[in-house]
Amino acid sequence: MSQFFPAQPGYRQLRERLLMAATAIGATLSKYAHPLRGPFGEALFTDVAWLGPADARKVLVALSGTHGVEGYYGSDCQSRWLESLKDRALPEDVAVLMIHLINPWGTAWMRRVNEDNLDQNRNYLNFDKPLPDNSAYDDVHPIYACQQLQGPLRDRADALFAAAIANKGWSGLMSVVEAGQYRFADWLFYGGSEPSWSNRTLRSIVKQHLSDVDVAACFDLHTGAGDYGHPMLMSIVESAYPALKDAKALFGPWLFTLITGAHQISETGVAATSTGYTSQMLLDALPGVHLMPFVIECGTYAGEIVHGHLRDDHWLHLHGDPLDETGRRIKQGLLEQFYPTDPDWQEVVWVRTRQIWEKALLALPQINR
Ligand SMILES: [Zn+2]
Repeated sequence: MSQFFPAQPGYRQLRERLLMAATAIGATLSKYAHPLRGPFGEALFTDVAWLGPADARKVLVALSGTHGVEGYYGSDCQSRWLESLKDRALPEDVAVLMIHLINPWGTAWMRRVNEDNLDQNRNYLNFDKPLPDNSAYDDVHPIYACQQLQGPLRDRADALFAAAIANKGWSGLMSVVEAGQYRFADWLFYGGSEPSWSNRTLRSIVKQHLSDVDVAACFDLHTGAGDYGHPMLMSIVESAYPALKDAKALFGPWLFTLITGAHQISETGVAATSTGYTSQMLLDALPGVHLMPFVIECGTYAGEIVHGHLRDDHWLHLHGDPLDETGRRIKQGLLEQFYPTDPDWQEVVWVRTRQIWEKALLALPQINR
């Protein structure tokens, strides 16, 4: 067997489709080899496809798989859009940059995190500075340290979980848990102690391809937060950025701006207390670019349900075997949370993602720094 679920695409199929679509339209490809392999011995890469003039001044960027298992959605839209760009001309002076599966280990192993159990969207920090302190997390840690998937220990952890929800409310609890923590590598929402492979790779990709462009619209593709089948177009940043006015003019009321910080509250399902998000890194890494950092976040199941599957997958990581029967059942459950098999869900997120990209593509020629 060469993948988790023969009926569904695995990492290898996602990659082959992307490469085929990019090759068919004459995109320039480059690849970044990950040091580890996938569960079936497959080599892992982040692939980069550049379509359009090499010296284009304006670029639409799409980034998939920041959270590995969410890359099934992102990759599907990237490939579909590249396929749809066949025999079409891009607007003058505009290029498309597809960054495919920036956390390929997470996609291949069907984890949200990376090979270091690290949440990539908490890792884009300056590690020379003091790291965020989230000591409130200590109180809830016993919920996630449970050594049983089922049984009395799990029942006790579930009781602690229910008590914490009763005490803090669901959003209150998640604002603590999902804020990220930087102390324990085997805990949930770990942000790391140094820049991860994906962090270093993304910085090198954007430096190489975007440092000299004038304007860029970047879309970081996510799933798992928000209402089922409702893609949210967001800007998630620490403060207003110079191109925000253009971003708002481009998308009007469709754009939701989320300012993150230690005391920020959000009802979107996306953690506003988190640090180290991709968008902020892009802004910091590309100071000379008139940059609009967007996130497309496609809602799936209720937050409590998604979170329950993350707990099970965390248990699997610490105590189980992803390839045995229990492991595969947990993987199947997790994949469903982040990439529902429902064809209506898959269709609606594609339609909306394509619509967003088409709008940005048409608008880019008119946006100047
Ligand atoms: Zn995500």
